[in-house]
Amino acid sequence: MEIRKVVLIHPGREGRIWGRATGAPYTLMRLASLVPDGILVEIWDENLEPLEGKLRQLGPHDLVGITSKTLAVEPAERFARIAREVGVQTVVVGGAHATLMPEDVARWADVVVTGEAYYTWPQIIQDFIDDDLQPHYHDSEWADLTGVAPITDRVITMVNENRKYWTPMMEITRGCPRNCTFCTAIRVSGQRMRLRPVEEVVDEIQRRGIKRFFLTDDNFGLAFRTNPEYIESLFKALEPLPLHGWTAQAEMLVSTHPDLLDLARRAHFDKFFIGFESVNPANRRELGGKSKGLVAQYKEAIKTIHAHGIGVVGLFVFGFDHDTPQTLIDSWEFVRESELDSVSMTVLTPYPGTPFRAQLVAEDRLMEKPWRYYDTAHVTFYPKLMTVEELERSYDWFCRHVYSPLSVGRRGWRTLRRHPVSRMPRKVFGTFSTDYGYWRTFNWRHIDGSRLLNAWGTTG
Ligand code: SF4
Repeated sequence: MEIRKVVLIHPGREGRIWGRATGAPYTLMRLASLVPDGILVEIWDENLEPLEGKLRQLGPHDLVGITSKTLAVEPAERFARIAREVGVQTVVVGGAHATLMPEDVARWADVVVTGEAYYTWPQIIQDFIDDDLQPHYHDSEWADLTGVAPITDRVITMVNENRKYWTPMMEITRGCPRNCTFCTAIRVSGQRMRLRPVEEVVDEIQRRGIKRFFLTDDNFGLAFRTNPEYIESLFKALEPLPLHGWTAQAEMLVSTHPDLLDLARRAHFDKFFIGFESVNPANRRELGGKSKGLVAQYKEAIKTIHAHGIGVVGLFVFGFDHDTPQTLIDSWEFVRESELDSVSMTVLTPYPGTPFRAQLVAEDRLMEKPWRYYDTAHVTFYPKLMTVEELERSYDWFCRHVYSPLSVGRRGWRTLRRHPVSRMPRKVFGTFSTDYGYWRTFNWRHIDGSRLLNAWGTTG
């Protein structure tokens, strides 16, 4: 079949903040880069504009791909339906939800893609042209990251991320050998830590012209232990670049590598988002071996990282089987004493494909909630040692304390003071935007039912 263009769709409900969307659609940028030069390709991001009108201009010679997070499955299905109504013959759906629950997506998608798609996506385009599409494509092996889908100059120009987005994304490693019971990342990206060649990382940063970025890596910090030589050469290669700062997810073992922390600072590294997950030691089994709920250890790690001029954002989850309202009272105490730069508290969420969800199903503790509630701000299961109302009330109580203007202001001011006065103006945005983003996530909690669904498609 003749192909007119390829359209890759990113459903989003956050919209723009002061004219820009938050995070650029990084995976779609790399998939768009795999589209052969002779074929027109576009990325449509619902966070930038409403998509319904644009969808109605598509036709049978357009190949539509939609990425599916669990939270966004309903709008993804709506987009697929509209596309079919106007004559599009092939809607391809991939991403985390398609990988974790292909049978759910197969109900309404023409083609389901499971796995990373870097090998199958070019094949799908060719099969569309050859009229030979299959209903299911699966990337059967975890792609070695060397040379995988480098972002092309055509896509860089098209997305214009430095004008349209606050935070460019970047990938340096992928995968994590831990096994936290609630984690979807390892079910999508695998448990083998894979590394991009340093020269490819540098080349991509330079060609994209980005000064700040957030790593999509599942657990960048673990590479401090597993691949220290690689991390050292990476930091040394980034040091001469004119970066304003970059951030990554990690675990607290990074604090035991002082030499690498020094190099990180010199490579313009700004702050670690550390998954402490819980201050309740009884939860340690669920935390995959990286955290043990020991606050004294957490405080020590934060102090050490701060001493190297690097910030720490604490990531926590609430609702484990040993949690009670007291857990959040203890968490608040810890936050007040710990000097964390920002804090994220999310409600434990039983995503498809996780051992946690399987346990809830076996124990008949899963609520019948539409996927739109899987946003880590709503409760979607029956907790063990408290009622749903207790969990919600405790979560509200904690978030109102931790994101009060006074708390945010105090944390922000403390963070800014760690920088030389000359660098402070440049650091203001990153200092306050993290807490602001988490406060916005918390606020989804008070949006319910159809209002939650209507949040999609009302952007722009
Ligand atoms: S450490 Fe992070 S990425 Fe690794 S399994 Fe646990 S939650 Fe997932």
